Amino acid sequence: MDIKPFLNRIYLSSPTMHKEELVYMKEAYETNWVSTVGKNIDEIEKMMCEKIGCKYAVALSSGTSALHMAIKLSGVKSGDKVFCSDVTFSATVNPILYEGGIPIFIDTEYETWNMDPLALERAFKLYPEVKVVVLANLYGVPAKLDEIVDVCNKYGATIIEDSAESMGATYKGIQTGTFGKYNAISFNGNKIITGSTGGMFLTNDKLSAEKVRKWSTQSRENAKWYQHEELGYNYRMSNIVAGVVRGQIPYLDEHIEKKKKIYMKYKEGFKDIPVSMNPYIENIMEPNFWLSCLIIDKDAMCKQVRSDNEALYIKEKGKSCPTEILEVLEKYNVEGRPIWKPMHMQPMYRMNDFVKRDDISVDVGADIFDRGLCLPSDIKMTEDEQDIIIKLIVDCFK
Ligand SMILES: *Cc1c(COP(=O)(O)O)cnc(C)c1O
Repeated sequence: MDIKPFLNRIYLSSPTMHKEELVYMKEAYETNWVSTVGKNIDEIEKMMCEKIGCKYAVALSSGTSALHMAIKLSGVKSGDKVFCSDVTFSATVNPILYEGGIPIFIDTEYETWNMDPLALERAFKLYPEVKVVVLANLYGVPAKLDEIVDVCNKYGATIIEDSAESMGATYKGIQTGTFGKYNAISFNGNKIITGSTGGMFLTNDKLSAEKVRKWSTQSRENAKWYQHEELGYNYRMSNIVAGVVRGQIPYLDEHIEKKKKIYMKYKEGFKDIPVSMNPYIENIMEPNFWLSCLIIDKDAMCKQVRSDNEALYIKEKGKSCPTEILEVLEKYNVEGRPIWKPMHMQPMYRMNDFVKRDDISVDVGADIFDRGLCLPSDIKMTEDEQDIIIKLIVDCFK
């Protein structure tokens, strides 16, 4: 079969609009509520509380700003150490540094590709003074939340749950974004639903939600003039952006269903080649399947070397590697991506500690980064297109 490059690029995960987004944006425009106050904002805060099952939601300009507010609320001060997921997007970590905190990265486990509770427990033995843990649910798969919550309770630490990638995923029937004292979700353009940008802070704590409302609108005090007692931020969401979010929220479940179908189709398509999909623990968790990823069996990896900005491999019969697969996909106008490079391997964190379990010697995050990759998971991709992508990948192992 002669496969030609796709005329229209197939993306990892791009925004999928319906129609209602425009209705609510237009409503904001026509009623002149185009700034950071308005009905769309009020509505989406209510809708998300209902969907996720939390008491308070504050709409903000991004998921990162929600995480920043969470870090401030948990009292992180200059020089404080904070435990943090290692295989994640940099936005999980950046807010720790905004407040002068020092992230300590906790290694990953193979069953969900999230923070390893055993490595976390070890970290508390090494650094008993740590009081805050920032936990991400990678690619829409919940972490081992019961175990993580237990360890944090045992050591009296506050959890900040970064559910930017996992909105709509559940753990034992409970939505992610509720396991931390403070939680963040994101409406960035590549997420499961989007506002073009935007994010939300979620909590059950009334005072914290009030603080975030105040801080995110420049910390204005109740006075006739601009009166300030605290540092402020310009972090509130626009009512126009909120209009997009309002149009998208009713489609969250449909998007999840489509993402799951994509994941299952890849899984079936790869059953005869030496790879597996990004894992989750069945019967305990239901991911939102935001990104489908694969990991190549150890003995099916051809030689691959990566520097800070380049990758090379040596082709071997019957074997492949993420670099080869990504090159093939690119040749056919398909977007794939390496696994998020672990934070402990990032040059900017070379001085930060990285805590692994003491009973295994392998660096799990580095291993998943080495052997794994993110597959195109766009819900506008057709089944025929996905069939071709599967064939391209299967052929890499010939
Ligand atoms: C996208 C993302 C964020 C940041 O969200 P923004 O809305 O883009 O600021 C934070 N953490 C993770 C894990 C993400 O994937």
